[in-house]
Amino acid sequence: MSASLDDLPLRDDLRGKTPYGAPQAPLPVALNVNENTHPVPEEVADDILDGIAQALQDINRYPDREFTALREGFADYLGHGLQPDQIWAANGSNEVLQHILQAFGGPGRTAFGFGPTYSMYPLLTGATGAQYVSGTRGPDFSLSAADAAAQVAEVQPDVVFLCAPNNPTGTPMGLDVIEAVYEVSRGIVIVDEAYWEFAPREESSALTLLQGRERLVVSRTMSKAFAFAGARVGYLAADPALIDALRLVRLPYHLSALTQAAATAALRHAPTMLSMVDDIVSQRDRISATLSALGYTPYESWSNFVLFGGVDDPKATWQGLYDRGILIRDVGLPHTLRVTAGSAEESTAFLEALASL
Ligand SMILES: *Cc1c(COP(=O)(O)O)cnc(C)c1O
Repeated sequence: MSASLDDLPLRDDLRGKTPYGAPQAPLPVALNVNENTHPVPEEVADDILDGIAQALQDINRYPDREFTALREGFADYLGHGLQPDQIWAANGSNEVLQHILQAFGGPGRTAFGFGPTYSMYPLLTGATGAQYVSGTRGPDFSLSAADAAAQVAEVQPDVVFLCAPNNPTGTPMGLDVIEAVYEVSRGIVIVDEAYWEFAPREESSALTLLQGRERLVVSRTMSKAFAFAGARVGYLAADPALIDALRLVRLPYHLSALTQAAATAALRHAPTMLSMVDDIVSQRDRISATLSALGYTPYESWSNFVLFGGVDDPKATWQGLYDRGILIRDVGLPHTLRVTAGSAEESTAFLEALASL
C-alpha cells in the first residue's frame, strides 16, 4: 500500500496541480511534441562521441561551472556581435526559463503570457511561487503591438513571456509587438524563439533588439531544429548583468561535462545539424496545403508544426490516428489538433490516415 499526495505536507499552492504530461507512446509515427524526427547525422554523432570520450577522462572532477567553450559556441552560432558573457545555457530551455523565474519571479510576483501559449509557462511560474496571469490574442491567435502593450501595461507583470513563433498555434510575432511590450513594461521580457530556425530566412530575430534593452531576453533551444531534444540543452542571450542574476539561482555545475561536450561538438557542425530544417519546412507547408484541401483550417505557422481547426471531435480524431499508429497532439483548443512536421514518409502517413478517417 502506498501513500497519496494528500498524505504529504505538500506546499498548499501545489495542491491540485497536474504535472506536464504529453503522452509518451511507442507508436511508429510520433508527431506530438515537435521534435525533429530526423536522427543526428552520422559524421556529427562520431564527433560528439569523441568529445564525450575526452570529457570522460576528467569525469572525476566537477565540470567548468561557466561552460566557457559552450558559451563561445552559442555566441558564434547566434552572431549579431554577441559575446560569450551575454550567453546562458541550461538543461533545456525549460531550465533556462526556470532560472529567469527563480531570479525575477517568486512569491508575490507575477508572470504573464498571451494565451493560448506554451503550457510550461504557468507550470514553471507556479513552481517558483509566483502568480501566472494569462492575456488574450485575436481570433486567429495573432497579436497587435497596441493590444499587447495595453494588456501588459494594465497587469504590470514582473516577467512577460512572448513566444515567437507561438506554441501551440505557430503564429508569428512582429518585432513591433516586442518593442511595444518592452516599452510599457518594467519587468523582464522573454522572447522564446524555440522554433526560430523554422521561420522565413529573411525575417529578423529579436536578437536584433537586444542592444540597449537590459531587461530583454531571447531564449532558444537545441531540442527542435538541432534534433537534440534528448540531450537537454537550451540557451539564451541577454545583457551580461542579467546573466549575472541567473548565476545567483543556478545549481553549482548545473551543466554536466558530458552535456557540455556533446553540445559543443554538435554546435561545431551547426550547418549539418540544421540541414533537415528546409525539408521540415517544406513538409510543414505541404501538410498545411493538404489539410486545406481536406477541408480543415490550418493556421499560419512559422514553426515545425501545424495547428488546424475544423475538427468536429478532436478526441475521436486523435484516437482514430492513434489506432493507426500515429501520435499527434490535442492541445485542448476547441475543434483543433496539432501535428509536428516529420519526414516526407511520416507526413504522408499522417495525411493519408487523416483522409481515411
Ligand atoms: C519545445 C519548447 C521549448 C524547449 O524546451 P526544451 O526544454 O529546450 O526542450 C521552449 N519553448 C517552447 C515554446 C517550446 O515549444
